[in-house]
Amino acid sequence: MSEIDDSWGFATLGVRAFEPERHAGEHSAAIHPTSSFVHRSAAHAAKVFAGEEPGNVYSRFTNPTVQAFEKRLAAMEGGESCVATASGMAAILTLCMSVLKAGDHVLVSKSVFGATINLFNNVLTRFGLTVSYVELANVSAWKAALEPQTKLLFVETPSNPLAEIADIRALADLAHAHGAWLAVDNCFLTPVLQQPIKLGADFVIHSATKYLDGQGRCVGGAVIGDAQKVGKDVFAFMRSAGPCMSPFNAWVFLKGLETLAVRMRAHNESAQKLAEWLLAQPKVQRVFYAGLPAHPGHALAKSQQRGFGGVVSFEVAGGREGAWKVIDATQLCSITANLGDTRTTITHPATTTHGRVTADARAAAGITEGLIRIAVGLEDIEDITADLARGLA
Ligand SMILES: *Cc1c(COP(=O)(O)O)cnc(C)c1O
Repeated sequence: MSEIDDSWGFATLGVRAFEPERHAGEHSAAIHPTSSFVHRSAAHAAKVFAGEEPGNVYSRFTNPTVQAFEKRLAAMEGGESCVATASGMAAILTLCMSVLKAGDHVLVSKSVFGATINLFNNVLTRFGLTVSYVELANVSAWKAALEPQTKLLFVETPSNPLAEIADIRALADLAHAHGAWLAVDNCFLTPVLQQPIKLGADFVIHSATKYLDGQGRCVGGAVIGDAQKVGKDVFAFMRSAGPCMSPFNAWVFLKGLETLAVRMRAHNESAQKLAEWLLAQPKVQRVFYAGLPAHPGHALAKSQQRGFGGVVSFEVAGGREGAWKVIDATQLCSITANLGDTRTTITHPATTTHGRVTADARAAAGITEGLIRIAVGLEDIEDITADLARGLA
């Protein structure tokens, strides 16, 4: 196994870090679809079970393919440990169940993924957590919302779909001064464009389903953090509760990490071009992308990100009718709320991702009827703009 070399650049880490041991000289990593592992003798089994010798016991605890993905992703995020999970939602659940207890209070940014809000409001509150929601970009609002029992600050930055930016360093300082932790859902940027742990965050959450896979094949997730809280506490919860990743999915994600740096740079470059192109279209009223100098989060994003990501939102004239016209006129873009795929996706947030939110809450969040969200894929940018030009004509 080639482990890891401190001199390696980011792309090299993605391709080479913790390459799994070869069994038959295979160049592409092997998959280990096995539930349990055999031992050399009864004494060996006893030692492995007792943790006195390294080794695998059962795939709910550890699996070589899953571990290869975990170690490589931890290296890319700059974290000590990673625990892979069955989905992005399982990662958030696993983190909360591992480090929080009844009576703790959590502060969550208002604009997080819809299922994240449901998880906090409808599941975790039943186990005694209390939750409050805060404006992502307003540090003083986070400070004012702290309660004596606040144990975790949870943010998703940039926000979806308006690309607001949280000040990760400031929120980490605020959390730590209060004896709390900061968790960042890094799904939209991936470690290629943002490394929250290096900015002071305690935990990074991933939906591997999105850019880590990058081709829309598998559902998975991960929690990254230090050797105690993730390596021991989150791992202990995983062992007992079992929301683990399958070896096959881990293999797909491991392959995804090998191309992540190249893909993210391409998504990023095309999204920037698309945002600039949209600004010049007469039917487009506003464009939401932190890569545009006029975006309120531009300077902050530049200071903590290495790019602005692949998601661009824009508002067209004519409200819902206008937006639906643009969406329905596309022939190349896929009409789906998913993102992080090779294929460009287009969605109408007000009637899909934010469709269950009340109209008032939607308006307060800036999700207007004319808003369209694009997750730019890897097609030629000229083909994507030509596809949008049909409906904007
Ligand atoms: C998709 C997504 C999730 C949930 O991940 P799943 O893999 O679908 O469970 C969490 N956070 C963000 C930002 C997402 O986009």
